Formats: sequence, C-alpha cells, structure tokens
Amino acid sequence: MELPFAESWKIKMIEPIHKSTREQREQWLKEAHYNVFQLRAEQVYIDLLTDSGTGAMSDRQWSQLMLGDESYAGASSFYKFEATVQRIFGFKHVIPTHQGRAAENVLFSYLVKPGMVVPGNAHFDTTKGHIESRKAQAIDVTIDEAHDTQLEIPFKGNVSLEKLEKVLKENKGNVPFMVLTVTNNTVGGQPVSMENIKATCKLCHQYGVPVVMDSARFAENAYFIKTREKGYADKTIKEIVREMYEDVDAATMSCKKDAIVNMGGFIATNRDDWYEGAKLYCIPFEGYITYGGLNGRDLNAIAQGLDENTEFDMLQTRIHQVQYLASLLDEYGIPYQRPAGGHAIFVDGDKVLDRIPKEEFPAQTLTCELYLEAGIRACEIGYMLADRDPVTRENRFGGLDLVRLCIPRRVYTDNHMKVVAAALKNVFDRRETITRGVAIEWEAPLMRHFTVKLRRL
Ligand SMILES: *Cc1c(COP(=O)(O)O)cnc(C)c1O
Repeated sequence: MELPFAESWKIKMIEPIHKSTREQREQWLKEAHYNVFQLRAEQVYIDLLTDSGTGAMSDRQWSQLMLGDESYAGASSFYKFEATVQRIFGFKHVIPTHQGRAAENVLFSYLVKPGMVVPGNAHFDTTKGHIESRKAQAIDVTIDEAHDTQLEIPFKGNVSLEKLEKVLKENKGNVPFMVLTVTNNTVGGQPVSMENIKATCKLCHQYGVPVVMDSARFAENAYFIKTREKGYADKTIKEIVREMYEDVDAATMSCKKDAIVNMGGFIATNRDDWYEGAKLYCIPFEGYITYGGLNGRDLNAIAQGLDENTEFDMLQTRIHQVQYLASLLDEYGIPYQRPAGGHAIFVDGDKVLDRIPKEEFPAQTLTCELYLEAGIRACEIGYMLADRDPVTRENRFGGLDLVRLCIPRRVYTDNHMKVVAAALKNVFDRRETITRGVAIEWEAPLMRHFTVKLRRL
C-alpha cells in the first residue's frame, strides 16, 4: 500500500482555540456591524483572514530569538540576516524594514516621481497605494486568462508581454521600474513561470527599465516552478530561487509571508545607486540601516525562516494543505478561482449566493454566513473591497466578488480544513434560502472594507 501524504513536521507547542454557539456568534457579528474585521480574534474559531504574520515559527526560529543581538548599530543579528538574504537571493545590498509596505515606501520614495508610470502583474494594494500616492500611475499587465476563474492553466499569474511592451513603448523615459509580483497575490496566489520571469526582465531591459520583484511569496512561486515547469523537477528550491532573481534588479519583501515571521521585511538590490538612494529614506522612516525598524531577535528569526521555507518539504506540506481544501470544495461542487493558488482559495461569492443582487454584496454576505455557521473568519475580496469610483462615487461592480479563505503557514491541520469545507457546504446547501444581503450604514471615504458598518437585510 502506498503511504499517504503527511506533514513534514510535528507539533511541539499548541494554542487553544475557542468554539462558540450560533447564538453567541449572531450577537457578536451584530456588534461587529456584519464586518468580520471588527470581531475580536477570540470570537473566531478558525481564522482564515490572512496568511500575513499569522504563521507558526519553528523551534529553530524561537531559539534564534534568544540569540538576538540588540546593539543599535552593527548587530551580529543584522550580519546573519544580511548573509542569508545574500545567499538565498544573490543580491549584494540588503536593507531591513519593518514590513513589506515599508520596503516599498523606502525604495519608492527614492524612485517614484509624479507623472511616472509603473507597470506590474496586478500590483498588491499597498504597492499600488505607494505608487498612486506619489501621483504616479500603476498599470496592470497580467495576462487576460487570469480573470477567467474557471480556466485551469499552470501559470495564471504571468505577465502579458504584449501589454507590458505597449506600456514601455508609450512611456519611454518615464518608467522608473516594473513590479513583478510572485506569486501574483491579487489574482489568487497564482504563480509566474521562470520562462515568463526571464522574458519579462529581457523585455524591460531592452527598454532600459529595471525590474523590482515583489517577493512576498517567492518560495511558493519556486515550488510551482519545480512542480509544473519543464526542466525544473530535479532542481532544488534554493537553486530555482537563485535563478528567479538572476536578471532582477531589486526585491521588496514582506517577511510576514514566506519568511514565516510575525513582522519584518527588506529591500535587496545589486545596484549601488539604488542602495545609496534608499538608505537615505530608511533612516528617517524605519531607523538605522542595520535594524530598519526590527529587533535583533526578529532579524535572526527571519534568517532562519528564509532558510527553512526554501526547503521543498516545507513548501510541499503547505501547498498540499491548500490543495486539500480545494479538493473538498470540488467534491461539494463549490465554485472557486481555479486552479488553487499557493496561499488561499478564492470562493466565487456571487456564484454561491446567486439570489442576492450585487447591490447587496453577495461575497460579503457569504463571509457573514460562514462566520455564523461555524465561527470561521474569511475575507471578502469583492465589491466591498473594490470601493467606489473616485470620480462618480458609484460602487464598482465590474470585477469579481470573491471570498478568500487564506491559510496561515503551519498553523491549522487538515481536520480544520474539513471543518471549513463542511461549513461552506452547509451554507451552499441552503443558498436558495439566502436571498437578501447587507446594506451599508456607514463607510470611510477610503479603504472602506476595514471599518464599514453594515446592516443585514
Ligand atoms: C503582503 C504583501 C505586501 C505588503 O507587505 P506587508 O508586510 O503586509 O506590508 C506587498 N506585496 C505583496 C504581494 C503582499 O502579499
């Protein structure tokens, strides 16, 4: 008999989680104005809000905390961190920052000026924010196939070279860099192929435009290259990562994702001019260049996390769990963005609750129903998040209306995934009885989804 798949680690420390009754959840959700961001974490049983900073550190990472050097400048922890980033990514210069958006803030302060254009394969929202707040324009150049949720292709996060070339041609001399995001978070944690990374870098460099890799889930991307792309099956994850960054000019990184720490980030580059330029912004925003807003112990934990999460077994355990949840949804016939991404499943909210008109926010209603059903917290990535058009102030109903089930690294077991799938199935089975959604009672002028107050119709 073939042995079944199992996790590549065992559990040494546990944290109790809390079940509740439906009655309690109805009360709590009402108090939270039908917005799961407003719940207290202890009111949640299984928390799939995000995979950012929510992972479980290993015994080795915890032991590194004790070895942290908290010297203000030149701490040994910085040199350990720097050497690890240099070895894994192949960059010369490394600047720590307190998280990914801080890396963007520091680097873009130096590079982005009003009127510039920055193409990218679906910029992450903070990345886009840091471009637009500098009065520059972010243009999406992801392949069209990414927007067809039912199409199964291996590298759905890829850059469209035609779209990219058009932007580069029309904006000559006005593109400070291109952002290549791996995996492509915005379209569902979908990977970018090695072939596409190389072709994108080649095209950008032909136009004299550097490439910045937004690297939050670089290791998951490398796993997909190894398992899906021809010629990479026998390479190690670390070899693939080095190859991914061979032609790239710089990286910004959120260590809260693939470095499996609760807080941290960095900028890395081979360009001396960018390093010198970014350093000037690091000091006032983040702190001195050998700590960048982080404790010495944090730098140690990042170094350890980067090393262990670029091992195949760790990534296989991770992606296997995401795919296991997807297989349960397949069994129950629940529609989601296909194929399953690296860190999350995006359920098609408006296909599940198809009786609810879009003006009543089907995906937002589904996050409420999932919480009421079993205390599971998911995240709406749909019409609520899409916000209003800045000019007309109309709701933007043009995109997809999804519910993201985002899986923290090394935190939940496959049994928890069974609970999530069963709860979703229960809601799905009674979908015909759910005919009304939610109405907005109060909303902020910007980024409304975090604080919006809703009423159940
Ligand atoms: C999370 C994320 C960021 C921002 O990182 P933070 O650590 O949350 O500030 C940037 N880009 C991508 C692709 C991300 O997933």
